[in-house]
Amino acid sequence: KQKGGQAITVFNFNEHTNEVMNKPIIERELRRAVTKKELTLYFQPVIDVHTKGIHFEALLRWFSPKLGTIPPDVFILVAEDRDFIQTIDEWVIDKASEFIYTSKDPSAKVAVNLSTKTLASDTLESMLETVIEKYQISPSQLELEITEHSLLRNEQAIIDKLFRLKKLGFSVAIDDFGVSNASLNYLRVLPVNKIKIDKVFIHNIEKLAKEYHIVHSIISLARKLGLTVTAEGVETKEQVEMLLQSNCDELQGYYFSKPVDEQSLDRVVEQIHDK
Ligand code: C2E
Ligand code: CA
Ligand code: CA
Ligand code: CA
Repeated sequence: KQKGGQAITVFNFNEHTNEVMNKPIIERELRRAVTKKELTLYFQPVIDVHTKGIHFEALLRWFSPKLGTIPPDVFILVAEDRDFIQTIDEWVIDKASEFIYTSKDPSAKVAVNLSTKTLASDTLESMLETVIEKYQISPSQLELEITEHSLLRNEQAIIDKLFRLKKLGFSVAIDDFGVSNASLNYLRVLPVNKIKIDKVFIHNIEKLAKEYHIVHSIISLARKLGLTVTAEGVETKEQVEMLLQSNCDELQGYYFSKPVDEQSLDRVVEQIHDK
């Protein structure tokens, strides 16, 4: 309205997105997007520094013909708010499993992000069992990334569920590790295989000794507990070197590759091997 005439500014992602964005419009379009194939999975490589093996994190992209490109941070929030995040997460799990099946590589592995509601849902386990049966893949080929907020509600039921999922052979990772104020407690009580150190911790390790000491200590603590440690948001060669010195197990970030579409993966993997 400020601009007058017919101009409508629906979004301005550089400002306080939550206030500016038009949730009902996003919601309506997102419901359509799920059926109209506007959602796409991108994949970002995660490098195992010990074996040089590469697996991928599946990250959603929404290219809306009407609204343009909406960042996942934004539309995931709307979906969580309106209770159709589970439909979206299940779509992602299905597509990721199809990707594993299509790769015909028994060591192929894909990590998917589970939102709190999906993790809490009673049907998650049966859905996962159905999908691995459908594509004839092994549970160990799917990694489930959960965030620390997932545990705020109904903690014991979630812990029990994670135990069962782990027992079935799924790998479970705590995503964005370190940003909640209960991180250490989660290390104590959660049955997981891996932590992914949030990118805010990686950002300045080559510039600030303090930041490096924090990351170094998280890595050594987690490894003593028998967990695999992934560093997210690795953007520079210096960061790679410092993380290797700290015995970090896996690296992920723009230094290696941004998330890319499936067609670009072979090229991207080749470039990483040349690094
Ligand atoms: P996340 O799971 O923590 O994903 C990592 C985010 O960091 C991704 O943003 C990725 O593109 C970005 N990133 C990767 N490497 C670097 C780097 O070196 N530097 C910087 N600055 N950023 C890097 P993206 O794809 O925009 O996703 C944002 C968030 O949206 C994800 O955070 C996740 O919480 C959520 N999300 C994405 N896909 C899904 C999904 O399928 N289901 C659910 N429930 N959530 C999803
Ligand atoms: Ca993640
Ligand atoms: Ca993360
Ligand atoms: Ca995140």
